[in-house]
Amino acid sequence: MMSGDDLYRKFVEEGGLNEAYKCVHCGFCLPTCPTYRATWNEADSPRGGRIYLVKALLTGKLQPTETLLKHLDACVICRRCETACPSGVQYSKVLEAAYAYLGSKLIDYGYPWYVRTGFKLLESPTVIKLALSVSSSLPGIPRHMKGGFARSRDVERLDDVLGRVFEVPRDKPVRGGRVLLFTTNSCVAWQSHTHLVYATIRVLTWNGFEVVVPREFKCCGAPYMHMGMFNKALELARHNIDVLDKYDKAYGIDYVVVPDSGGCQAQWLEYERLLNAKLNLKQRVMNTLQLLDKVGLVGELGPR
Ligand code: SF4
Ligand code: SF4
Repeated sequence: MMSGDDLYRKFVEEGGLNEAYKCVHCGFCLPTCPTYRATWNEADSPRGGRIYLVKALLTGKLQPTETLLKHLDACVICRRCETACPSGVQYSKVLEAAYAYLGSKLIDYGYPWYVRTGFKLLESPTVIKLALSVSSSLPGIPRHMKGGFARSRDVERLDDVLGRVFEVPRDKPVRGGRVLLFTTNSCVAWQSHTHLVYATIRVLTWNGFEVVVPREFKCCGAPYMHMGMFNKALELARHNIDVLDKYDKAYGIDYVVVPDSGGCQAQWLEYERLLNAKLNLKQRVMNTLQLLDKVGLVGELGPR
């Protein structure tokens, strides 16, 4: 089993730099990058911005500065640039390498205290709930986000679905498959978008799947991974895989579904690399639409 230090070496020495050198600066990725399209600043693009900057950083040609961090930090890690790249550059590995390289020094480069404190509190369900209820009444929060927060808190509470098994309704076709749903109240995304979790359960049961929602899952680990906190990311990966094993033994799980979230699902698909183990996750971990596309839609779509 790898340690956080082994991962550091793997990501910085084998991963990040190799991937950065694969970039031929063709620019095909530019139109896919939301931060470049928002700023039209090359430094906020993958090509001549972040990949170039990280390469210089990792080879000692550039010192970490607040400006450099600002450009790395603005990346929303959507990984759309990877889908457009003819050279197959795995951009996420480049970014991970930068954060691994900066490691704990990161906080010395202008990260404000509330970001540092926020990271420490990231996993506490109570703190997340409190933060969401305070932030939804702040004047600077966009209205569409407030709507999401309020809906989740007042109407569809995540706690009400955790630890439950949802059967196929009597009037719906039974397919015979069983889905393990990845969601956790120790994640700001699922606490603020609980309506997506409810919708996923509804769509999957109406399409013939029994849905098992464990209470034990924790954060997928992506925020820690992207900040170079590999020991924590490893701990969370091991924990979530243990939860999957436990439910697999108890119920027999056909698929793990992540309610349509790019970040958590992408992190789940990194678990084999992180844990250095064959887990066959690529065949089993998917989002709702991928599963329905794979098995075919049998339920009716419509208002709830
Ligand atoms: S598409 Fe790939 S090779 Fe081309 S500039 Fe972007 S990252 Fe580099
Ligand atoms: S991950 Fe997304 S935001 Fe970051 S460089 Fe790639 S396309 Fe741009």
